[in-house]
Amino acid sequence: GLDSIGMAPAEPNVEVSEAFGADRNEMKVELGLGAYRTEDLQPYVLNVVKKAEKLMLERGENKEYLPIEGLGAFNKATAELLFGADNAVIQQQRVATVQGISGTGSLRLAAALIHSHFPTSQILISSPTWGNHKNILNDAGVAWSEYRYYDPLTVALDFQGMISDIKAAPEGCFVLLHGCAHNPTGIDPTPAQWQIIADVIEEKKHIPLFDVVYQGYASGSVEADASSVRLFAARGMELLVAQSYSKNMGLYAERIGAINVVCSSPDSAQRVKSQLKRLARGMYSNPPVHGARIVTNIVGNSDLFSEWEEELRMMAGRIKSVRKKLYECLSAKDKSGKDWSFFVKHIGMYSYAGLNEAQRERMRKKWHVYMTKDGRMALTGVSQAKCEYLADAFIDSYHN
Ligand code: PMP
Repeated sequence: GLDSIGMAPAEPNVEVSEAFGADRNEMKVELGLGAYRTEDLQPYVLNVVKKAEKLMLERGENKEYLPIEGLGAFNKATAELLFGADNAVIQQQRVATVQGISGTGSLRLAAALIHSHFPTSQILISSPTWGNHKNILNDAGVAWSEYRYYDPLTVALDFQGMISDIKAAPEGCFVLLHGCAHNPTGIDPTPAQWQIIADVIEEKKHIPLFDVVYQGYASGSVEADASSVRLFAARGMELLVAQSYSKNMGLYAERIGAINVVCSSPDSAQRVKSQLKRLARGMYSNPPVHGARIVTNIVGNSDLFSEWEEELRMMAGRIKSVRKKLYECLSAKDKSGKDWSFFVKHIGMYSYAGLNEAQRERMRKKWHVYMTKDGRMALTGVSQAKCEYLADAFIDSYHN
């Protein structure tokens, strides 16, 4: 009976936030976060989101079901934001876009599509990657293997390792790539490296699946953060792109995102879209409307869009300024000559600091600084005011 069901493993992030919550020390720092925080370390609702919601109330829109593929105006707006409205893939109607349950649900749809149409294919994922990628792929029955990505010695990209692992895989794999602001490392390929990655993927007839969660939130520019995806699209390659508005619009709990599949012809795109809808129907019938309307109002209105870009620059700018301050404190205080510059080289809200388990334990026990077990740090949990203290904690824990 049901009594035979055992306990599922605990979600690692939950342990961190519980331990942080129970810590009564006032100097404590939470680096296990999955969300943006203001300089006062409080949650943030974008002004532009409040404006869009006000518009929605005024219009008195109803709550009837959306079509299976989601809100049509949202699907158009989200694909245009990703690729650029004048992109050939849009102009030629080669993109199948279906609204998804945020990034996770959109990736789940992509995985379901891979499972049903390429049952023997495997997907290559970076080592490390966002922890949930493995859950999503396992649950969908998609086999995965890892390519090298992070080099602990340099705290930077193991580019040679990445390229040779993607080359060594059998032809026709899927390759999961983080569009920008790699989670958990904060390490992205350079534009020149992206070209080489695209060369190898093309040569091997692999199909990329991009995970794009931080468009605009990494660099502050929606164009710059989409450049990896656009580079692949410009080559005429087939590709899949999952999008999320959790971070870049702060719509975490609205669960709004999309899966975009770039096909070789409009006809192929229509067939793919019909299959995505078929899969969505069986999983959740049709997606929620509230977040879709918010995004459509912002992306589709030039005034709100420019205001959103301003708020993106503000959020990305705060993270960058914390990175800079932390690096300055570390270099001023650490007399050992250790190079802490990876903090300013990494991009987005996460960084891997290359700490081992004992060092992380010391950060937690002695300094009340909490990070996930894999050593990922969310810089959104840091303010200018905390940088001095955090630098002391790092130096003490690193050298002892
Ligand atoms: N992919 C990556 C790399 C992420 O960091 C996240 C959010 N932490 C997601 C996907 C999905 O988030 P959501 O389902 O909230 O859009």
